[in-house]
Amino acid sequence: METDVAGVRQAVSTGRLPAWDRVEALVAAAYGRYRGHGAGAVADYIPVLAEADPGLFGVVVAEVAGDMHAAGAADVEFTIQSISKAFVYALVCDQLGHDVVRDRVGVDNTGLPFDSVIAMELNDGHPMNPMVNAGALATTALMPAASPDERWERIRSGLSRFAGRPLDIDTTVFRSESATNHRNRALAQLLESYGRIDIDPLRVVDVYTRQCALRVSARDIAVMGATLADGGVNPVTGERVVTPAVCRDTLSVLAATGMYERSGEWLFEIGLPAKSGVSGGIVAVAPGKGAIGTFSPPLDSAGNSVRGQRAVAYLSRTLGLNVFASEVHPPTVPPTTQRSGTA
Ligand code: GLU
Repeated sequence: METDVAGVRQAVSTGRLPAWDRVEALVAAAYGRYRGHGAGAVADYIPVLAEADPGLFGVVVAEVAGDMHAAGAADVEFTIQSISKAFVYALVCDQLGHDVVRDRVGVDNTGLPFDSVIAMELNDGHPMNPMVNAGALATTALMPAASPDERWERIRSGLSRFAGRPLDIDTTVFRSESATNHRNRALAQLLESYGRIDIDPLRVVDVYTRQCALRVSARDIAVMGATLADGGVNPVTGERVVTPAVCRDTLSVLAATGMYERSGEWLFEIGLPAKSGVSGGIVAVAPGKGAIGTFSPPLDSAGNSVRGQRAVAYLSRTLGLNVFASEVHPPTVPPTTQRSGTA
């Protein structure tokens, strides 16, 4: 698409998804191929998450034209957890702009686990990465609001606009995490000590824990991702949620940091910006084309859903989504495949 910006003709070119029938068949095939795959372990550091059914598996593709393709447990709800970080980041960038958020929170992978304290200490108190807990807490704190209640409401309604329906909190998961999130409280207080949070850090943890406990389905996260693929317009409701520049910023951050400390390996093998969460969701975004949402609770050792990674890898190859590929090539089987489940 070509557009005149400040007197200069500018263009973005992303290609197209295959025809509707082909996408439909490949989503069903992705589900069928990996449904019986049993590797991985359900997260249990938030006590109630340990009760998740490890057999659940859903795969959805949402096209930027609004068409949907679903297989398996596409409408089973789970808590969004870390996937919220991507969309709160987009909302805050939309409010405050590229530079403020980049300087305050950073855009780089720490290479360390999502709840690392050392990562912050090694970087003079800079969180570095908005997709790990320290950076996500700093991002949530930046959402402009007169009170914690208003901040929570702005986040809840913003994420609902991405999903195209009102999202509600899972109070059981919220309470379970609130009772055990000592590490996040420590991270928020450390951020305050370094001047990275200007408001009550424990109230920030409370809002962050709420945002992580919002209930979504694989279909919801596919629509949320497709909104980022569609320059910020929700392809189902037609509502503009954020600007095209915010989508580009958010997707570039996801490419570098969205899959925990395996983000580089994910980009190398699968070639799509993506975000995963500990309850088993993955959203992967193909700019200009659409998004994949998957749900399956068993995780690998980095916290990424095992079936979800395999389904996204398969769909990335067969739908032609890898943003770095220019010709069809045989799938690679890297030595680390066994460890991270990205075959
Ligand atoms: N609410 C979780 C936490 O802060 C999110 C973790 C995740 O999904 O990576 O520990």
